[in-house]
Amino acid sequence: MISEEETLEKILAAVPPSSPTEVLLGDAFDRFVAADLFATIPLPPFDNSAMDGYAVVAESARKDPRLKIVGEQPAGVSKSLSLLAGQAIRIFTGAPMPTGADAVVMQEETQREGDFVLVRTKQISEGDFVRQAGADLAVGQQIIKRGDRLRPATLALLASQGIRSVSVGKRAQVAIVTTGDELVAPGKKLSAGQIFESNGVMLAALAAKADTELSMRRHCRDDFDALCGALRDATQHDAAIISGGVSVGERDLVREALKEIGAEIDLWRVAVRPGKPFLFGKRDQCRIFGLPGNPVSTFVTFLIFVRPVLLQMMGAADVGLPRARVWLGHEISGDEVRPHYIRGELKDEQFEVVGRQESHALFGLTRANALLRVKPQEKLDAGSEVEVLLLD
Ligand code: AMP
Ligand code: MG
Repeated sequence: MISEEETLEKILAAVPPSSPTEVLLGDAFDRFVAADLFATIPLPPFDNSAMDGYAVVAESARKDPRLKIVGEQPAGVSKSLSLLAGQAIRIFTGAPMPTGADAVVMQEETQREGDFVLVRTKQISEGDFVRQAGADLAVGQQIIKRGDRLRPATLALLASQGIRSVSVGKRAQVAIVTTGDELVAPGKKLSAGQIFESNGVMLAALAAKADTELSMRRHCRDDFDALCGALRDATQHDAAIISGGVSVGERDLVREALKEIGAEIDLWRVAVRPGKPFLFGKRDQCRIFGLPGNPVSTFVTFLIFVRPVLLQMMGAADVGLPRARVWLGHEISGDEVRPHYIRGELKDEQFEVVGRQESHALFGLTRANALLRVKPQEKLDAGSEVEVLLLD
């Protein structure tokens, strides 16, 4: 058995990021950018009005509120207008500021009188309602770091720079193989001793949430030849995720089948609870993850071992789950020898264990929104501050 830390270190070291591809911004949501990007256009790009109103010289408008209107500046074109003291230019939101104007008086504070406008406030300062060029973003400023995820606002920022396409990490193509003679597809009839297959849909959802592409999903009986066939097909993809059959029972045939098809097994059995029988290997370009079949073990080992690797493959810089520092609702003791991922509910910054904690307890898992990693033999008092991993 090897430690959890060593396992993650080894598998991350074995998986380089794949080569990047260029995609249109519209296809780049949730992808990971492959290079640092810097601003080439300031934001705002030019001084412009934040309001519909009148562009003025603040000092002159304070002294004499009656100003002569000498032009109109709409948004979308620059009429290269200019004005002097005692004058105003009708202006609209987003329109370029006329030369000489240093403030905008909003329309609601004015009264039009033919060719004149009466400013009804004395509170006019230089810079009022003017959006200054470069105030938000200056040319040369870094706008995104290599490995950042492209979020909706980031995509908008790239578009505002006139960028049409962006270089991102390739999406990982994931194959999922569930195994087990006792398992029946939902919708079919159960016979005595059988249960419905439920890990497949969970893994597909977890893989989708990690921004990967599901390219194969199959259930396979605990039959050596069938398993060899399924694993041959699954290992044509970037990652093959196998559920069940990696433990030490007679019907746990995954390791033998992997050897038969020429895959290398780099590590097997990890000191972690749940998830001890976890396996990692490769065949050609494909990384292989064997996850124990108990639903909670499948879920936890996916999140702590598989997800980081998939994200790294796709060029992500941050591959860990989001974390939060919270208070413990009651005391907790760790496992004797293995780090234990305890499922709990995080509410109002307090973490409380929820549901049964055995590795088959799927209902308990559905009630959890956070995981607490408790070190071997660790004792945590009620009220102590802990860091938890956030599940959604
Ligand atoms: P295994 O890892 O194959 O020894 O399976 C461990 C336990 O998880 C057994 O009780 C299996 O019935 C259950 N199990 C394995 N695969 C699945 C699955 N795809 N869906 C639901 N339960 C499963
Ligand atoms: Mg099995």
